[in-house]
Amino acid sequence: MGVISSEEKKELKFKGTQVAYAVVCPRKLWLFSKGITMEHASDRVALGKFLDEESFKREEGFSDENVSIDFITSEEGVVVHEVKSSKALEEAHILQVKYYVFYLKSKGVLVSHGLLHYPRLRKIERVDLSEEDIRELESVLSRIEEVLSLHTPPKVIDKPYCKKCAYYEFCYG
Ligand code: SF4
Repeated sequence: MGVISSEEKKELKFKGTQVAYAVVCPRKLWLFSKGITMEHASDRVALGKFLDEESFKREEGFSDENVSIDFITSEEGVVVHEVKSSKALEEAHILQVKYYVFYLKSKGVLVSHGLLHYPRLRKIERVDLSEEDIRELESVLSRIEEVLSLHTPPKVIDKPYCKKCAYYEFCYG
């Protein structure tokens, strides 16, 4: 990838979860960002179980005021790992990992790639960051700004996956 400009760096203030939610549902993004958190613990549980079972017990996570990465390892550069419980929202998961790679690179970290773990499915997917991905991330980050500037939450989206969303009762109850 190319050099990350200072303009791009300025915008990297969002959490990975917010980037994922921007793909899933603007209303979910808004509710989460305003501190209304009802998220299922399934991914946390998946991470805990995974770290117990695998030989990653000594690996460190990474977090700062913006991002909280499940854990990182080192090969030819840092590898960013994210653990998810299901592939239902895979597109959002991939973009979340791309954001972590982009974020760390913007901090001057030598990053190799990301790995998405789906322990229940016994699958691991490699995630790389391209120039096109950076453009997509920029557009998602602008969309996040727009959604967060709203005074009321965006409308419900009425998608099949709403039934599995932690905000389901809040949205449709
Ligand atoms: S239930 Fe549906 S509309 Fe409501 S926040 Fe979740 S995904 Fe969005």
